[in-house]
Amino acid sequence: MFDKIVIANRGEIGLRILRACNELGIRTVAAHSTADRDLIHVRLADESVCIGPPASHESYLNIPALISAAEVTDAVAIHPGYGFLSENADFAERVEQSGFVFIGPRPETIRMMGDKIAAIEAMKKAGIPCIPGSDGALGSDSEYNLSLAAKVGYPIIIKAAGGGGGRGMRVVHAQANLLNAIELTKAEAEAAFGNGTVYLEKFLDNPRHVEIQVLADGQGNAIHLGERDCSMQRRHQKVVEEAPAPGISAEQRREIGERCVRACLDVGYRGAGTFEFLYQDNAFYFIEMNTRLQVEHPVTEMITGVDIVREQLSIAAGLPLSLKQSDICINGHAIECRINAENPDTFMPSPGGVTHYHPPGGPGIRVDSHLYNGYFVPPYYDSMIGKIIAHGQDRETAILRMQSALNELVIEGISTNRALQQRILEDVAFNEGGANIHYLEKMLEA
Ligand code: ADP
Repeated sequence: MFDKIVIANRGEIGLRILRACNELGIRTVAAHSTADRDLIHVRLADESVCIGPPASHESYLNIPALISAAEVTDAVAIHPGYGFLSENADFAERVEQSGFVFIGPRPETIRMMGDKIAAIEAMKKAGIPCIPGSDGALGSDSEYNLSLAAKVGYPIIIKAAGGGGGRGMRVVHAQANLLNAIELTKAEAEAAFGNGTVYLEKFLDNPRHVEIQVLADGQGNAIHLGERDCSMQRRHQKVVEEAPAPGISAEQRREIGERCVRACLDVGYRGAGTFEFLYQDNAFYFIEMNTRLQVEHPVTEMITGVDIVREQLSIAAGLPLSLKQSDICINGHAIECRINAENPDTFMPSPGGVTHYHPPGGPGIRVDSHLYNGYFVPPYYDSMIGKIIAHGQDRETAILRMQSALNELVIEGISTNRALQQRILEDVAFNEGGANIHYLEKMLEA
């Protein structure tokens, strides 16, 4: 196992990685910005290195500073967490060229999955179900594009190959708007991602977001840890996640899970990863693969008992996967509520000092958060300040435990989305389970 690693992230995930390292006897270096000196994992790490000023592009996205942090501390590996540089193939490559281990997939894999057209092509080849569409980049032949869209059937969605974070997409409902929409999306993609390549696929009108967690060691072993439902979204941002997904049978889980495992072996995948699908009319449609740890990984940990961060570290250290598919059992149900520092009405970030903090507890409650009394939430980063995860023997128990936990939670001094989470947990459709990805926005409009 590694002797010492750099944690190249902040907030709750910095702390999550530190906790896994502590269990494995790995010494830690917290790489942090000047705004983050008081983060709890920075205080608890064996060493800390300031990598730059508050702005992310000068600190958490500063590749030379992060590599220097590993050099000056004699660390052997870098964990990127999620967000920031976690899916940056150039970073992964520079880390490896500098003689350190990148705790994540091989740079080539990250690069391929970052190009949605290349990713879809590889997945199709590996037997993963994809959305009917253009099978590659759209050219400039208008007649051909019109006939292709007619064949796929409206509505369709035009997507940028280099897109991400819910940007670079446009839905087209009628033929009259197609050519204009293609041109607009191309121009936007070129400006936003430096890559004007776009493709087209069928727009699914009421899908759920269901994703499969995988672990692969890059040495011929791969397993899946079942699925998560992340359909409760606002502006493509997940708000509540759960595992297992309501209404998915053990047979469906096994079928799609096995396909994902085979795809991992096909592309020589290494590390933890997530296959994201849209799920509609009992069918899965691949949209993208995330080549990193995800915010919502704890719900899977709660129902499988597998520590995903620990597995990431062990895979990166070159150890073969210690778990077999037959070791994975699903136990009960888990729900995660993201707690954001934001104005409950406008959703604008609400940074500032936390004057009083009381995290909930009790059976089945896990809180992943870096908050403490007196902590100052800086204005420079994502507004997520923690996650509450509730586990129970069934979905109903998990919901009851989450409701109790949300009632117990106290965060004073800043505004949070606690009331929104309470509303969702009380909502009739949420309680029934299986709402689609548009449900939350419709609920908020009403
Ligand atoms: P990004 O990388 O920007 O997150 P995705 O391909 O994952 O892009 O798509 C983001 C979101 O856009 C999806 O979660 C879904 O809500 C919506 N979306 C993408 N493709 C389709 C589609 N073919 N039909 C319906 N909704 C889609």
